[in-house]
Amino acid sequence: MNQAVILAGGLGTRLKARLGDLPKPLVPIAGKPLLEHQMQLVRRYGISRVTLFLYHKPEVVEQALGDGRRWGVRLESVRERAPLGTAGALIAGLEHLDDEFLVLYGDTFLNVDLQRFASEWRTTRAEASLFLHPNNHPFDSDLVECAEDGRVTALHNRPHPPGVWRQNLVNAGLYAMRRSALEPFRSWVSADSPRIVDFGKDLFPEMLRRGMHLHGYNSPEYIKDIGTPERLDKVEAEFQAGVVARGSFERPAPAVFIDRDGTLNEEADGLRDIDQLRLLPGAAEAVQMLNRAGLRVVVVTNQPVVAKGQVTEGQLRQIHNKLESLLGLDHAFVDRIYHCPHHPEKGHAGERPELKITCDCRKPSPGMLLRARSELNLDLSRSWMIGDTTVDMQCARNAGVRPLLVRTGHGGRDGRFPAQPDSTFDSLPEAAAHILKANPFSS
Ligand SMILES: [Zn+2]
Repeated sequence: MNQAVILAGGLGTRLKARLGDLPKPLVPIAGKPLLEHQMQLVRRYGISRVTLFLYHKPEVVEQALGDGRRWGVRLESVRERAPLGTAGALIAGLEHLDDEFLVLYGDTFLNVDLQRFASEWRTTRAEASLFLHPNNHPFDSDLVECAEDGRVTALHNRPHPPGVWRQNLVNAGLYAMRRSALEPFRSWVSADSPRIVDFGKDLFPEMLRRGMHLHGYNSPEYIKDIGTPERLDKVEAEFQAGVVARGSFERPAPAVFIDRDGTLNEEADGLRDIDQLRLLPGAAEAVQMLNRAGLRVVVVTNQPVVAKGQVTEGQLRQIHNKLESLLGLDHAFVDRIYHCPHHPEKGHAGERPELKITCDCRKPSPGMLLRARSELNLDLSRSWMIGDTTVDMQCARNAGVRPLLVRTGHGGRDGRFPAQPDSTFDSLPEAAAHILKANPFSS
């Protein structure tokens, strides 16, 4: 991967008051034009060719950036004749594209390990990989649905029908793709029938309809758009607070692991019915506090109801989609939900024998936390686990993370394991506040 394509044609209407005469991609963040941050980022990951697609005031952008030598990249620009949309611009400019390239948007600010993103894409052999993440407003975002192996199965553009629970997985606007994936669509932007072709609304849905393979890369790394004054201010504040610098997979990050039933949502003694899922008071606000600080938030839950044949994997997925949706309605999100579907004791009617095993993921075994460590590059020695049972406390000790007990749910009265918590709190919000007071990013 040697080329980054940056879609920098946007008008920036909503930022007009801030921009003055500047085109949107030159908006300063921490005193530097946004495109300059992007140049430095792609260079850091070994990309040496950057191609800008420009429409609005191209000469201003070209003059500001020169030939890219300052950042050690070869910079070229393509001036669009007419607005063709994000994908349309690239289809019309195929001759400027390498066989493989990254696509960035000129109005997003990001700190993403691009090498890791591109490497995972290559192992999938997909036509394109979409960088996806949970955000704090999924109900008014375009959502992407993926299979367990990451293959994109559906795109759900807003507005979303009420009462349908979907995973909080949003297209963040960063892609890795092959030129050959765009070639079948040449006729869409021919000179006699130019049309607007958008990646999310037009091209990706059509690629799925044609059975083309799209991969979803689910990552908590930092990527946000700066299209309104409020969003721009937020990115600036997060840059100054170090949230952006900590946002990439490159550095191991602290995490807060949270048990599900009895800690995040009401204990239901083996939750089987999606209607039983209700968040505990203050739970969403607590998660939101952790999100805002830039902490990774990971749910780890034992779900022996799957092995017992009481809940199917599909039903569990719906339950977790509802959990993510309820959190999202309160502007909170979790970076991952891991569950153990196993149960060790055989011999009950309706059970699934293949899941009736002694596994290494059922808490108090540390398997789910170790998997999260590797998938999200976590530093367990700087991480916490919040739960309502001695199983959670023992799991935390086994994984080397700090256990915090809450008095909701079982309140630690299950008496199954000897592990003691570092501290005990009335509920999740108090435990989250304790973590944030402890300066979680110091080592
Ligand atoms: Zn397991």
